[in-house]
Amino acid sequence: MQNEHSLNWLMDLVASASLENTDKAKKNVVGLVPTSLVESLMHDAATSESTHELKLLGTGIAASPGAAAGIACFSSDSVLDVTDKGEKAVLVCNETSPADEVGMRMAEGIVTVRGGMASHAAVVARGWGIPAVVGVSDLEIADGNIKIKGAVVEEGAYISLDGSTGEVFSGEMELQESNEEIPELKTLLEWADEIRSGYLKIRANADTAEDAERALLFGAEGIGLCRTEHMFMGDRLPLIQRFILADDGSEEEKESLNELMLAQRLDLAEVVSAMAPNPVTIRLLDAPLHEFLGAETPDELLEHNPMLGTRGVRLAIIREQLYRMQTRALMGALVDVEEAGKKPNADIMIPLVSEVNELNLVRSWIEEELASAGDELRPNIGTMIETPRAAITAESIANKADFFSFGTNDLTQLVFGFSRDDIESRVISMYVNEGILSVNPFETLDFQGVGHAIRYAIENGRKTNPELEIGVCGEHGGDPESIRFLFESGVDYVSCSPFRVPIARLAAAQAVLSSSD
Ligand code: PEP
Ligand code: MG
Repeated sequence: MQNEHSLNWLMDLVASASLENTDKAKKNVVGLVPTSLVESLMHDAATSESTHELKLLGTGIAASPGAAAGIACFSSDSVLDVTDKGEKAVLVCNETSPADEVGMRMAEGIVTVRGGMASHAAVVARGWGIPAVVGVSDLEIADGNIKIKGAVVEEGAYISLDGSTGEVFSGEMELQESNEEIPELKTLLEWADEIRSGYLKIRANADTAEDAERALLFGAEGIGLCRTEHMFMGDRLPLIQRFILADDGSEEEKESLNELMLAQRLDLAEVVSAMAPNPVTIRLLDAPLHEFLGAETPDELLEHNPMLGTRGVRLAIIREQLYRMQTRALMGALVDVEEAGKKPNADIMIPLVSEVNELNLVRSWIEEELASAGDELRPNIGTMIETPRAAITAESIANKADFFSFGTNDLTQLVFGFSRDDIESRVISMYVNEGILSVNPFETLDFQGVGHAIRYAIENGRKTNPELEIGVCGEHGGDPESIRFLFESGVDYVSCSPFRVPIARLAAAQAVLSSSD
């Protein structure tokens, strides 16, 4: 919650160090300001009076900071109906999928019954700066009502949430507006940048030109993760469904890929152009099939564990034309951006690799597609390190990767064997309450286990290639404690949602300061 006193404290602190104007005074201020204060300035907050007046319905995982209020809507369509009338909406549903993204973008806030910090709702909400509470497991949506611990809220009634505390209320909360534009915050972050410069870069996870522009405003130095599956939502969904359902090598597949390529070329050109000349890491398609097909999934494509199934590089290997198409789309986009007078800068990243031969095979296809590209535009080809086997075999994987980027969401899921969509609300909150775990490992990196795998992979990857560029693009890239650990482990950059970039800038500077103490 924002606090007048801490805001005044920050303004006084920055003003007196500006007067003194010495490196020592600036470092002192950068070291003193808590990252939580920067986070609170970036988002609307609940006023304490208003939360006292409202009825607390329940508490879930504080998945995306900030407070919001609006009419409770139980589907993306009803969010659109409400917002079309000029009213504010809060999406309340069991969980979200990419098909809900149009409604999610229009909502003031999001509440889900299931999910955790790395679930679809949480990742998308943080990316767009929409307050969210997920994993409110006592909440039941039935017969046009929300039922929670004996209380009933009808669809159409007002509901409020505080994504910084995880609380959900009935009624309309009074909000205190964000303060992200105060000059003292800008000055503080500029001092932080001077301190971290040459040590740790900050990039953003962004999939659209709008997000890229916002990321630049917040001080990002590039995009560390552009999830291309987010480009296949809304009116593009039928195109990707048609591809998935077509037989490999069929005419139907060819036609669907041609249409996808045109759409993808436009989207990629927009995002690369918005970020030019800064780098954009294009992550080739990685989504479990059910996220695209939903209830339409035919029996032969149904999977018991879709997150461990035909995802990422695995889908690409059984459907050879997919990554070839994405590579051609990217090359077309780079030419378009260049012809428009900008300097495009993009790399290709392969998801969910666990064996170097997977990378080797798809890399050979991508290189065939790149054969005609000029050296100037040719993207580097790197891999995510997000399976334990990729971390363990990093020394050989580095032979085929121009860079590594740790996908710490999947790496946490797989090192613990914790399903990122299922485990947080019940098990992890209980584990944290009982002291079995000190923190939620999807929020702050588990240094002992996941962190150990990361350090092992960095050390061994750099045995093969001492110059290997290494980033982190999982949600931990925006968490201050994790940033300190990752900096000490030798990563070159962290990438996080645009709204967390200012926090990451300060946290990175603090990590540099504490390492030089
Ligand atoms: C990750 O796994 O950390 C990651 C960034 O990829 P995604 O969240 O899209 O699986
Ligand atoms: Mg992943």
